[in-house]
Amino acid sequence: MDYQQLIDEVYHEVKSANPKGKVADYIPELAKVNPDHFGIALVDLEGKVYGAGDFDIPFSIQSISKVLTLTMVAHVFKDKLWSRVNVEPSGNPFNSIAQLEFEKGIPRNPFINAGALVITDALTSIHNDPLEKIHGFINEIVGRTCVQIDESVMNSEIAHSERNTALAYFLKAYGNFENDIQDVIRTYCGQCAIELCCADLARSFSFLANQGYSIFANRQILSPIDTQRINALMLTCGFYDESGEFAFRVGLPGKSGVGGGIVAVMPNKFSVAVWSPPLNAKGNSPKGVKALQLLREKLKYSLFEER
Ligand code: GLU
Repeated sequence: MDYQQLIDEVYHEVKSANPKGKVADYIPELAKVNPDHFGIALVDLEGKVYGAGDFDIPFSIQSISKVLTLTMVAHVFKDKLWSRVNVEPSGNPFNSIAQLEFEKGIPRNPFINAGALVITDALTSIHNDPLEKIHGFINEIVGRTCVQIDESVMNSEIAHSERNTALAYFLKAYGNFENDIQDVIRTYCGQCAIELCCADLARSFSFLANQGYSIFANRQILSPIDTQRINALMLTCGFYDESGEFAFRVGLPGKSGVGGGIVAVMPNKFSVAVWSPPLNAKGNSPKGVKALQLLREKLKYSLFEER
């Protein structure tokens, strides 16, 4: 398969499509991004990067960071972690508090905000400097020192963190939060404000396409079974309350963020990242989804069958 040709075709076919969408503005700093950016990068199992458009411009990864923090704690806490966070799609918006009451402080999955806060709390319980550790980990799996934080996005989110703070207090009320709430919110906003370009994002997710082995870090990051679990969670819960739609249209494990990025993996083949800032009402990038749908359709195989 000529991946460069594939990426170029997808890029050119989707570039001029402008599905309805609006750049996220509930974190005011995010609203300043140029909505016309569009980039794609694919990384094969040998680590070769194929890119098109704005694939080397860093952007705010936001919720995509939740997969990487989950990776950092999954092998430490093992099954204990899954008594604090469930593994079911939520069918509700990413920042919803409603289910948390019905489910007695156990978030539906680690990719909605409540679940991600539990994961960042768990990370805080094992590291004094969790944000530094997140940086170090991402640099390691990208294979170079590339992580930077957009301080203005971080501070903007901290200044508007009432909802996430409310989620954290709710979790604490149910005994599912161990650390100082403001500390964890700070780390959480910091991980969301990390900037990576499509190429580095696809490199960082490459271990999830490679049974847990990162060729950039040169080590096994996760066991094959934990890798399979995280991929299953991305397939079922990676796109907020539009996860079913993404699985239906694209059929790949993936994760989106309100910065307009999406990263997805084709196990045993490649990882791929796309970026287009405008979002639909569910918080996903419609142009990004369109690009990944087209890319998948152009392949001779899917997650479910070889052709
Ligand atoms: N930092 C964002 C929040 O907590 C992340 C949301 C996202 O990308 O889904 O609201």
